[in-house]
Amino acid sequence: MKLILVGPPGSGKGTQAKMLIDKYSIPQISTGDILREAVKEGSPLGKKAKSLMDKGSLVPDEVVVGIIEERLKKPDCKGGFILDGFPRTVAQAEALDKILDKMNLEIDHLLNIEVDDGELLKRLTGRRTCKNCGRGYHIIFDPPAKENVCNECNGDLYQRDDDKEDTIKSRLKVYHDQTAPVVDFYKKKNLSRTIDGLGKIDEVFTRVTGAIN
Ligand code: AMP
Repeated sequence: MKLILVGPPGSGKGTQAKMLIDKYSIPQISTGDILREAVKEGSPLGKKAKSLMDKGSLVPDEVVVGIIEERLKKPDCKGGFILDGFPRTVAQAEALDKILDKMNLEIDHLLNIEVDDGELLKRLTGRRTCKNCGRGYHIIFDPPAKENVCNECNGDLYQRDDDKEDTIKSRLKVYHDQTAPVVDFYKKKNLSRTIDGLGKIDEVFTRVTGAIN
């Protein structure tokens, strides 16, 4: 199964991707996670990406295309994969087509998780992550037992720089301007499936698996 998960920031695509990994035993490839790891390590890639990510802008196409091309060659992608957060522009989608052509592979479905901007803003500004173990929380929907402290490991919780309100607004604008056309690109190939992203995580997952089947 070769899937692309698309959705605005806060649509829950990362969560759905993790559930799909368990169901189909295929790896999730998140360009956002790979870039955040590079920022944490302070690698040359991380240094280049950090200021763009903090502003909510996209990292240049050739950078993420290079990351994806390398990642798709790894043996764990042989049985399929879930692309989470890639492609984010039509140029990236075209580059992905070329990469997959060379590998004799094709995308099975693009799953487009839709959530309106008001709900996204509410979800994203409340998001917190443990500095120590990475567990995610939400101050309204999934708060820790003790404010700002992780239930699992007592680590401090923090807010991602790009989850601050102004940055979220730019990320949503970037999404509507640059990523929404990617959905049209796959609609023309008859590969795009729209999923209503409102409701409980399990309900959304039922819609996701229903769309795949
Ligand atoms: P995400 O975790 O997917 O929301 O990504 C966080 C940030 O990483 C984005 O706001 C971009 O700055 C950068 N990023 C992730 N994936 C891509 C991509 N495919 N193209 C360009 N920038 C990306």
